Parts: sequence; C-alpha cells; structure tokens
Amino acid sequence: MRFNSIRFKTSILYTLILGIILSIYSGVIFHGVRVILYRNLDESLKVKAKEVSDILRAYHQVERVDNQHLGLIADIFRDDFSVFNKMVVDELWHSAVKTLNLKSDYIHILTPKGRLILFSDNVQEEIAKTFHADLPAVPQIMFKDIHPSGLHLRAINFSIDLNGRPWLIIQIATPMTAINYTLDKLGIFILAAVCFILILTSFLGGVLARSVLKPVENITTTVDQISHRDLHVRLEERQPDEEIKRLVNSFNLMLGRLEESFNHINEFSSNVAHELKTPLAIIRGEIELALSGTHSVDDYKRVLENSMEEINRLIRIIKDLLLLANLDYRSDIFKFENFDFSGFIREIGENGKVLAAEKGILMTSHIPEVNVYVLGDKVHLRRLFFNLISNAVKFTSSGGQIQFSLKVKDKKACVSIVDNGIGISKDNIDRIFKKFFRVNKEESPELSSGLGLNIAQAIAKAHQGEISVESEINKGSTFTVTIPLS
Ligand code: ADP
Repeated sequence: MRFNSIRFKTSILYTLILGIILSIYSGVIFHGVRVILYRNLDESLKVKAKEVSDILRAYHQVERVDNQHLGLIADIFRDDFSVFNKMVVDELWHSAVKTLNLKSDYIHILTPKGRLILFSDNVQEEIAKTFHADLPAVPQIMFKDIHPSGLHLRAINFSIDLNGRPWLIIQIATPMTAINYTLDKLGIFILAAVCFILILTSFLGGVLARSVLKPVENITTTVDQISHRDLHVRLEERQPDEEIKRLVNSFNLMLGRLEESFNHINEFSSNVAHELKTPLAIIRGEIELALSGTHSVDDYKRVLENSMEEINRLIRIIKDLLLLANLDYRSDIFKFENFDFSGFIREIGENGKVLAAEKGILMTSHIPEVNVYVLGDKVHLRRLFFNLISNAVKFTSSGGQIQFSLKVKDKKACVSIVDNGIGISKDNIDRIFKKFFRVNKEESPELSSGLGLNIAQAIAKAHQGEISVESEINKGSTFTVTIPLS
C-alpha cells in the first residue's frame, strides 16, 4: 500500500476519526469510573468519620452519667492528662479502630483550635506534618487528596458539634491504593482495547477500501490498455456503485468523443494529403514532360501555366485550411461590431450581380429598406455570403437566375440565395458541409477546394447563426443563412 494512495489515506482517515471518538469515549468512561470510585470512597470516609464521632459522643455521655464531671474525652482537652485516663482512652480507641476496620487509615482528632488530641498508631511525624499542612482543621466537612511521603491518601475533615458549638474535628485519611490500582488496570485495559480496535479497524479499513476501489483498479487496467488503435473499446457500464457507474459513463463518453475526433483527424489528414497530392502530381507530370526532350516555347509556356494553376490551387487549399483552423480554435480572429445589416447585404448583392453577370446569370436582390443591426465581423460575413453566391454562380449554367433576398423573422436576419442550377441530390445534401466534399470531384479543380461551405458554416456558428439548404436535382438550390439581430 502506497502512502499517497486513496486506500492508505482513507484507512488512516477513518482510523484517525475512530481513534478520536474512542479516545473521547474512553476518557468519559475513565473519568466516570474515577468519579464513582471517589464518591464511594468519600462516602465511606464520611461513614467512618460519623461512626468515630458517634463513639466519641457515646464516651462523653457515659462519663456524664457516671457523674464524672469531665468525661474521658473531656479530659483529653486538658494538658494535665493523667496516665490512667490516657491508657483508658487508648484502649477504647483501639477497640473502636478494630470495630470500624480503620487499621490502614490514618486518624487525627483535633480540637477546633487545631490541637492534636488523638491519632492512630500509624500516623508518623511525616504524615502528621502533611495533615497539618494540607488539611487545615476547619469546622466543616471537606475532602482532599494528600500526599505524605510518597503515599496517596484521600482525607476527610469532619467537624463534630457539642451543645451547638464546635467540639472536635475528626480527620481520617485512607490509602488510595485500591482505587489507583483499579484505575490503573482500567486505563491499561482501555488503552489496550483502543489500540486493538484501531489496528483491527485500519486493517479492515484497508481491506474494505481495496474492495471499494477494485472497480477503479479495473478501470485503470482497461484504460491502460487503450491506445489510439482501440478507441472503440468501452468500459463495462454495469457497475454496482453509482459513483463508479458515473465515472465509467463519463469515461465512455470521453472515449466516444476521442474516437470521433481521432477519426475526424484521420479522415481530415488523408483528405488533405489527397488534395495536396493531386496538384503536386500534376505539377511533377508537367515538369517531367518538359524535361523529357526539347519542346517549343509554347509547350514550355503551357507547362508553366498549368503548373501555376496547380500552385494557385495549392495556395488556396492551404489558405482555406489555415482559415478553418483559425475559425475552429481562435475566437480572437473575429472583430465583432454592431452594423447596419441591410446596407451591408445590399452591397454584397450588388457585387454578386457583377460576378453572376460575368457568367451570363441574372441575379436579382430583394433587400427591404429596414434598419436591422447585427453584431458581427464584416470581413468574415462577406466571405460567407460570397462563398454561397460564388457556389450558386458556379453550379448554375449561363442564362440561369439567382435571387438574393433578406427577411427579418423572430429577431433574426434570414438571407437566402436561391439558384436554378444543377441542384444537389438527397444523398449528397447532408455531406456538402463536410471538409473536401465535392459532388463532382473532377470539376473545375482550380476553383473548388471542397472547403467553402465548411468555412461558411464555421463563420455562421461564430455568429450564433446557421446555414440551411433545400435543393432538388436539376431544379436548383436554396441556401439560407440565419443570424440573430443585435
Ligand atoms: P467548393 O469549394 O468545391 O465549392 P463547397 O464546400 O463550397 O466547396 O461546396 C461543396 C459541394 O457542394 C460543391 O462541390 C457542390 O457539389 C455542392 N454545392 C454547393 N453549392 C451548391 C449549389 N448552389 N448548387 C449545387 N451544388 C452545390
């Protein structure tokens, strides 16, 4: 698995997300357990403190009933504490420690002023100091963690009242060993479980990502095998996943477009080669003939004239091809301006009449006196209309007629060129806009490159317009150019 692969990234991503979720979840659980354990411990400390306080109260009561003015507990307030009393108190205290199971607890009993009067055996000097420093004897209930000499203790400060006045303060600290042990074990268990889940998830995630990305792998393998020779190959469209289906569909559509363009380029280059080969072959033939012996000056002149004709044809084809390439790929060759279209068409009609008259064709124009404006490139639009007029002249015999007219319909200017020439058969009518298509390939090669209509159509499209054609063989053709008004 590569580090920059989707598979790696997705498995890392969801492992990371799961890791974050599990960490938060485990943190909450750990904290919850800790709070519960502390609460239980605090509760048991409180119970112990209460029990101790009850015992102390009971001693005090007993002494009062026995009419001893100051009971044993009261005695301990005094500095002249008798040895006997101390022993009795100690004895009572020790039995209470056993009853309450306070063996491992550290117990301090102080006066409200903070004078220590009783403490358990295990309270060393160090512990006593920490009690004194960290747990001030205050007349209220308070819980605190204290850390005397490396120990971790939970302590309670419990105040007892007598006759409505603070009497004694009981401080009990119990080791946290059990809780810490439980929390440590819980922490280790949670950490191990999280690590295990994450490792398992990243592994399963990798496996899952691989199965999800399998169709992508398949597509890559198929696409790798597609060269320009097998652009007809299509990817399997039956895919289980919607996204992959769409990817495959887009890919197939792109392959279709590539195939079409490739075929188009192939056809175009073979057409270009063919169109350029013919005049070059003629020129070569003429030159070979001229070199093959001695000829008259007239013969040489004819050879040069023929060659010149072919060279002109070559130049025309190359110019047309260059223009087509520019029309297709360079929109900046158009210099659009807003101009009076009817005036412009009228002028073209006048020029066309001269062209038609040269061949003995009568061209009439019907251009209404309307103010219509078009956003267009005059130079290229002139080329478009002259292509159509010169075609009408070319394919109409002398004595024929051409009608040139302008109509405005649905915010569009419609210019029609109607001739009564040779017409175009139904089979050919769909093909005349293709590059290099000529119905009669033999005819007047110096005038026709088969690119004229293609150029005209490209210009019309650049003006958001179109060219339509209706024709009947031997009756004539009607070419209509529609261009939106500005
Ligand atoms: P060309 O440069 O050969 O005229 P075009 O692309 O302009 O090429 O025309 C393609 C073919 O369409 C012509 O060779 C011709 O066969 C046919 N065509 C075009 N205009 C007419 C028309 N007005 N009447 C009959 N045929 C036409």
